Amino acid sequence: MKLRSETALTFDDVLLVPQYSKIKSRHGVNTRAKFSRNIELAVPVVSSNMDTVTESGMAIAMARTGGIGVIHRFMTIDRMAAEVAKVKRAESFMVDHPYSISLNSTVADARSALAEHNIGGLMVLGADDQLLGMITNRDLMFESNSDRPVHEVMTTRDKLVTVGAGTSLEDARSMLHLHRIEKLPVVHPDGRLLGLITAQDLVKMDMTTNATKDKHGRLLVAAAVGVKDEDISRADACVKAGADALVVDIAHGHSDLALNMVRQLKSMFPTIDVIGGNVATGAGVNDMISAGADGVKVGVGAGSICITRIVTGFGVPQLFAIAECADAAHGQGVPIIADGGIRTGGDLTKSLAAGASTAMIGGLLAGTDESPGATVVRDGRRVKVVRGMASLTANIDRQEVDLKREVDPADWEKVVAEGVEAMVPVRGPAQDIVYQLVGGLRSGMSYAGAASISELWQKAEFIRITSAGKSESNSHDVDRL
Ligand code: IMP
Repeated sequence: MKLRSETALTFDDVLLVPQYSKIKSRHGVNTRAKFSRNIELAVPVVSSNMDTVTESGMAIAMARTGGIGVIHRFMTIDRMAAEVAKVKRAESFMVDHPYSISLNSTVADARSALAEHNIGGLMVLGADDQLLGMITNRDLMFESNSDRPVHEVMTTRDKLVTVGAGTSLEDARSMLHLHRIEKLPVVHPDGRLLGLITAQDLVKMDMTTNATKDKHGRLLVAAAVGVKDEDISRADACVKAGADALVVDIAHGHSDLALNMVRQLKSMFPTIDVIGGNVATGAGVNDMISAGADGVKVGVGAGSICITRIVTGFGVPQLFAIAECADAAHGQGVPIIADGGIRTGGDLTKSLAAGASTAMIGGLLAGTDESPGATVVRDGRRVKVVRGMASLTANIDRQEVDLKREVDPADWEKVVAEGVEAMVPVRGPAQDIVYQLVGGLRSGMSYAGAASISELWQKAEFIRITSAGKSESNSHDVDRL
């Protein structure tokens, strides 16, 4: 029998020892960190690629707060690409395919399209996307004849202020201001409409300075893929829809299947960051990096809904896994994402202090407004469902998507689940959870005397505690309200 001699500690086994600090305020620390080789986050928090955690709504919320969301892969390829596209469209310096209407549509058609998409204007397009005009709420406001064709009421092309491709953010802003307009169509010299810049989007951009954005002002989003042949098409569809990073999502990432997938994705999409995972050892990290991974996700068995360690006997206590993996990754320029087991700001701080750059959160975000799924009332409490992606019901749902038919209930017993279904309390907007977590991290960094995450790595000193130390850590000997 091989037995490693170290004691593998995890979050509750240790505390961080306060260090001399020059930090004057927790707002004076910089929480910027790399999610992957080429993607930096202002806030080192990533939402899990789970079907009860991250679809477009969560990914939008995460990117707006300065983190990033990884869209889960347990849906059809078409739907997944549409989810990615929704994030890319949510905020943009230029909307790529603005809603449009044809010249012969009626005022009634225009009104219903504006209401359906909840927008203020439609581009009027002819053949080959030629821009012919624009129709806005203002054009329609006092129009009493709903049958009138759009071309009679629209603002015609010659009266529109437009710009060419490649217009900078500053130029767009000054054009909008100069002409006191709200919409600036982007037009090719041959007359084709290329996109639309709106005043509303520019204002939103100014309000969210921490937001994780690409150079076109669009929110960043990552997409999870599996390791089957069809996952190549999934990756392709997600990249075409605008995904900024691909996350190879497999429970045992230190495997030929996962490493080959990372290699294949890197050769197909050399400009897209590929994150590999999950691993829990330095050897796993090294192999992932050799395969080309731009980030490595660490965690086997730590998740709140995970029973892998019980069912299989395998796993590594999370803090130990992070420390060993970070040791291997630092110096190779590849960041570690600590995935699973984070319940508090303290756990987040410990994860990063142990060497991770960012942390992935599942269960804690599952009860928020932006997670998929409905709120239900149980015993008078409002709750949402969270489930492991290797839970019984997730397994069955996945098989049904693959088979395109229902799984015979007699076959349910064949599933060996490594995750559970559970309930979590409704927790309000995701940004409030992130705010609390990152508030804890900021305070933690000031206790460490660390102005940045890399300084936290250098200065952090852990101390092992006993169960008495642990009970002393939480509030005690008082009746909590
Ligand atoms: P949490 O933040 O503690 O809830 O952990 C979330 C993480 O648990 C996810 O990001 C996954 O890495 C992991 N996970 C999700 N589903 C399962 C499962 O069914 N079994 C084991 N781990 C899972």
